[in-house]
Amino acid sequence: MHSFHYQNGSLHCEDVDLAGLADEHGTPAYVYSATTIRDHYRRLDQALAGLDHGIEYAVKANSNLSVLKLLVDEGSGFDIVSGGELRRVIEAGGDPGKCTFAGVGKTREEIEYAIEKQIYCFNAESEEEVVFIDQVAGEMGKVAPVAFRVNPNVDAKTHKYISTGKSENKFGVDFEVIDAAYERASKLVNISLRGLQMHIGSQLTSLQPLIEAVEKVTPLAVRLKEAYGIEFFSIGGGVGIVYDPALESGKPDWWAAQEEEHKPLTIEQYAEGVMPVLKESGLKILLEPGRYIVGNAGVLLTRCLYEKKGSAKTFRIVDAGMNDLIRPALYEGHHEIVPLNEPTGSSSSVDVVGPVCETGDFFCQSRELPDFVPGEAIALLSAGAYGFVMASNYNSRGLPVEILVEGAEARVIRPRQTIEDILASEKAAL
Ligand SMILES: *Cc1c(COP(=O)(O)O)cnc(C)c1O
Repeated sequence: MHSFHYQNGSLHCEDVDLAGLADEHGTPAYVYSATTIRDHYRRLDQALAGLDHGIEYAVKANSNLSVLKLLVDEGSGFDIVSGGELRRVIEAGGDPGKCTFAGVGKTREEIEYAIEKQIYCFNAESEEEVVFIDQVAGEMGKVAPVAFRVNPNVDAKTHKYISTGKSENKFGVDFEVIDAAYERASKLVNISLRGLQMHIGSQLTSLQPLIEAVEKVTPLAVRLKEAYGIEFFSIGGGVGIVYDPALESGKPDWWAAQEEEHKPLTIEQYAEGVMPVLKESGLKILLEPGRYIVGNAGVLLTRCLYEKKGSAKTFRIVDAGMNDLIRPALYEGHHEIVPLNEPTGSSSSVDVVGPVCETGDFFCQSRELPDFVPGEAIALLSAGAYGFVMASNYNSRGLPVEILVEGAEARVIRPRQTIEDILASEKAAL
């Protein structure tokens, strides 16, 4: 479910006219629907109702404080990948005691901070890391809760840059040696073994790899519970979303043709698929969804500046670039592109490109799109996850404004960054 639809000929987020927002706040602008975020969280929670479970929202997908606050209010826990993200969760009113800490390269400072704030668990990615956490905890006179991330060596069948559960990926401890790793870790006195974690990849659109991984790893989790008293098994995040037919109503004809090809994995199918095996484990099951919660809850608004007709192609140049939304350049991410004025039927094949001086700075290539003209604003759909959080100042471009919509209300939750903001610390050093 998401809340972007045409109403009276113009694209709305909930009850707010997006063209109005683009005029008032300028472009590029990220706009998120609070109702959609909340709805996704609740749907997942309800789908898992039959299971002793906890949701740890993956902060890295969208870490704006107001977004985190929404999820704090829903009762969510948080999966963090840095000390900075832990600080964000705390700032948003979240409970560190509901945080798991992932990532292959935790630093001493981050480990100390997380121990001090009493997070729920470190999800460690190597024995070396566990030995180091034990050492740091010992120096602090504390006992740190630890889980290993196991690499189950299954193919998630997603883009190679977001696949994480194969032996050749840098993540986790190999399935074959994980028992021995727990055995050795159980001898360390400044850690306690609290759980087991896995995460096979992101944007999973078929259930099979996940079921395969769950079936392979659950018996291990049960063994570890019996041997060391671990209390949770986290199956990670990765539930994919539909990037193509993203509007819930008023889909134009040119859209429908694509729809058949991109059958989404529903959250209910996901839950039904994994629950039977997990239920028998008797462990608390944790999930770390990022994209599923926020992906379809956000759009990036951008305005068309020029139409440039080359001999081979037509380019529509827009005011958002790869520095604002890097998914297409980084891992061939697809975003549906729609004009804010409801399309009337005419369309043409175009490249939508940004102003950044890189050939990879495009949002689509040779795609049949409804016509729009310079001066008109368009929306890149499904930009709520891994959008703003990956934005940079490349080409000395300021970070876009972020706006949260709820009903008829739109609130700026991060103002647009100005060139003065960017220069301030450098000017101070001149
Ligand atoms: C990125 C990540 C997630 C979230 O992935 P999504 O595809 O956004 O659901 C969950 N767990 C870990 C360990 C991650 O690295």
